[in-house]
Amino acid sequence: MAYHITSNCVACGDCVYLFQCPVGAIIEDEIYRIEATLCTDCGSCIDVCLVDAIKPGDNSLIA
Ligand code: SF4
Ligand code: SF4
Repeated sequence: MAYHITSNCVACGDCVYLFQCPVGAIIEDEIYRIEATLCTDCGSCIDVCLVDAIKPGDNSLIA
């Protein structure tokens, strides 16, 4: 499992530039995303996002 970033993301950058994921799994590509192969499911990023876009679960498993 891993956390994922939903389409609610407004690309504020806080989860990358203010918060630092301990394993560097939150990545700024064309969109902000969480690399599921790196995420350890620690949950410490979930409260960082002001629009509640970070959710538990691997988005490849969520319709
Ligand atoms: S903190 Fe939330 S809204 Fe901001 S870039 Fe990260 S996921 Fe997107
Ligand atoms: S759940 Fe933990 S390891 Fe996964 S992206 Fe968030 S802070 Fe990083």
